[in-house]
Amino acid sequence: MVCFRSCSTLKNGAHDSSTVAMAKELIKRDILVLSMGCGNATLQQSGLTSMSAVELAGDKLRELCSELGIPPVLSFGTCTDTGRAAYLLKVLADHLDADIPDLPVVVTAPEYMEQKATIDAVFAVAYGLTVHVSPAPPITGSEEAVRLFTEDVERITGGKVVVEEDMKEAAEILERILLEKRERLMTTEEIRKFHVSA
Ligand code: SF4
Repeated sequence: MVCFRSCSTLKNGAHDSSTVAMAKELIKRDILVLSMGCGNATLQQSGLTSMSAVELAGDKLRELCSELGIPPVLSFGTCTDTGRAAYLLKVLADHLDADIPDLPVVVTAPEYMEQKATIDAVFAVAYGLTVHVSPAPPITGSEEAVRLFTEDVERITGGKVVVEEDMKEAAEILERILLEKRERLMTTEEIRKFHVSA
């Protein structure tokens, strides 16, 4: 699952183009999208939060959506609803007896614009999540800051920042991370079941 938290900006292309492109790239890779922020209104207007968008999803996500009667992009509210999203992840983690960084969940902000978005990204990294952002944040003048957010922090919280302005590339990176996390979680679950039954 991807927590999709987008503003709306002209900094990385035409207005809302990255938001729509990223959502389409994700759902066609069978990744469910939970959408928040001003970009959520864009996804509603583009029809991606409607049942008709199921046709744009990959086979597995299409099957899941049809079975549950849900669209592939779930409209979850505004950018101030990130607290509710964090709570949802906590409930999910508790249910799976896992830690937040172990969940097959990542975050994307394909058109981040202002301070609230920055704080949300820092919170998500501290919460243990990989966070994709575009455009590149204005911290590239400091090699140390870049290394801290894109590499070193992962050893502390389990989360990190991924900067990628090409939405296809970004979706591929997120898909890879999700598949790795899912495989690790399933392996852990299998080991746990083995210990319980032994
Ligand atoms: S931070 Fe501002 S521009 Fe971005 S989603 Fe929230 S209200 Fe919209």
